Amino acid sequence: MTDILTETAEANAAVEKFLHSGDAPAAPVLESPEPGFFRLPGGFTRGGAGADVVYEAEVRELTGADEEYLDRVKRGKPEKFMDALIERGLVSIGDAPASKDNIGLLLTGDGEKVLLEIRRATYGDTLEWDELTCPHCGERFALTLSIDDIPMTTLAKSEDRNFDVTLRRGGVAHCHLPRMADLPTLPADATDAEASTAMLANVIDTIEERGNVTFVAGAADAVRSLGLADRKAILTELSKRRIGPDLQAVSFTHDVCQKEVPFPLTAGDLFPGL
Ligand SMILES: [Zn+2]
Repeated sequence: MTDILTETAEANAAVEKFLHSGDAPAAPVLESPEPGFFRLPGGFTRGGAGADVVYEAEVRELTGADEEYLDRVKRGKPEKFMDALIERGLVSIGDAPASKDNIGLLLTGDGEKVLLEIRRATYGDTLEWDELTCPHCGERFALTLSIDDIPMTTLAKSEDRNFDVTLRRGGVAHCHLPRMADLPTLPADATDAEASTAMLANVIDTIEERGNVTFVAGAADAVRSLGLADRKAILTELSKRRIGPDLQAVSFTHDVCQKEVPFPLTAGDLFPGL
């Protein structure tokens, strides 16, 4: 006759034997990608001909410690808030851990995609509004959108990150799509024209005119001497070529009246309370 203690001891011995036999079933294979992994719409590269382009990146969920840190950044240096958010939430780009250095090299559209994915990892996929009023039919309704409803443009070919703009008098400006480090830090009272100058100086590599090559790469004076029409042409080209998520272009069809409702979002909609 066996008592309960003997039975338990035998059962435990059987479990021990099973666990150490090497026959334990393999972990199930997950078909969907692990949470936090995603594809960059532009691709990361250190530049140079033939350099590798990396598309895989990983983010993690933000925690209370991140919230405290970000709150402090928001109070002290609000202009650094988005950078700080990316630095906290981005884990790796390809095999390399995220660093200030490689974040600076990300195309701005890739940086915006990183923000979206940090949002997804932290709060989930859905964006919800309790009460909206349809601008077409006046009906009140609740809206649920997914992160994936935000229009996303990918860079067709990695080489497209560099492009030329023909200037009015026949010269050419060799430019690149803006990277995170190209986003100028502007004084709060900067005008739109000053903001454009700072941006143009960072995205124009060289200007070739009548056989002369001017290296720009950050030099605002070289950009100030560009004609207004040329400045405008380059800015127009930059906005035509923008990649990544476009929060401004979000819209939905109201199911009652079947009309399209433009619904531009802001970063505040993605990170409520931050
Ligand atoms: Zn409606």
